[in-house]
Amino acid sequence: MNLKQIYKNYNTQEKCLRLLEKLRWGKTVICPYCGSDNIYDYKNAEHQHKCYSCNKSFSVLVGTIFQNTKLPLPDWFLIASLILHAKSGMSASELSRHLELPLKTTWLTSMKLRAAMIDRKTQLHGILEIDESYFASSHKLAKGTSKSKPILSKVLQKRGRGTTKVSVVGITEKGGGVRTKIIEKLTTRNLIAMLMHYAKTEDSILVSDGFRSYGRMNEVIEHIQVRHKDKKKGGANVNQIEGYWGYVKNGLRGSFKSISRRYLPFYLVEFEYKYNHRNQAEGVMQDFLKSCLTDKNCMVNYKPIKDSKEVVYG
Ligand SMILES: [Zn+2]
Repeated sequence: MNLKQIYKNYNTQEKCLRLLEKLRWGKTVICPYCGSDNIYDYKNAEHQHKCYSCNKSFSVLVGTIFQNTKLPLPDWFLIASLILHAKSGMSASELSRHLELPLKTTWLTSMKLRAAMIDRKTQLHGILEIDESYFASSHKLAKGTSKSKPILSKVLQKRGRGTTKVSVVGITEKGGGVRTKIIEKLTTRNLIAMLMHYAKTEDSILVSDGFRSYGRMNEVIEHIQVRHKDKKKGGANVNQIEGYWGYVKNGLRGSFKSISRRYLPFYLVEFEYKYNHRNQAEGVMQDFLKSCLTDKNCMVNYKPIKDSKEVVYG
């Protein structure tokens, strides 16, 4: 669903609501409060329903990122489409210019949409590659900007395992998707926790470089460590994940002037989502709208990373 199709087919609140109802419920309306299908449709207020079991009134927007929004749904659809189709991302100020909406609105809306991109289900398996990347957050690198707003788009070219940068770990599946996570301390314990969380270790093989924190990964998964000096053409490599870092960094550098450390996870999720749907020719927007509707706690559960020392997985 591109901009033209939205202008043509989803240009009113009513049309958008009808699509969202179809995507969320199909033919049977379910009460978002109690899960009952004993529903009464209001005759005078279209798209408003009442539940016989718990006596509450609701629309399709209840319990989703759209709940209580003042922004018309066609605008939501346009912002979602622009974000989804901009390969290297689109900033809130750019959205604001395109759609003539206040910057505050486009920023908040795009953050909510990014939160809906979080994938909680998919587990990677097969031939996996793990690697970490560093995003500059040092004040020295952000000349002329305030200390509280480091320039994350100014990415360090050099590989470095220092302390002043934000370290992000990524795992890719050969020919498949990617999962990334900010991990402040690149300890074996944290890396194993991430791997167990995002991948099926049984029948999978993990490839990494020679970084010592990856040294004990063979305790949980079959592991190949490729050292730079014995890199062979055609052999095991970490090319896919390294290529992914290139994609993220080019996007951040090109489209976003500065991103605060606090919100970096949202942008990582966006790039992850687009990468994981890169081969899907059609229906990306519909699938995305579905995840906006089904993942109803996505804003509540999603806490931006704080300056905590450890990343703990539940
Ligand atoms: Zn109910």
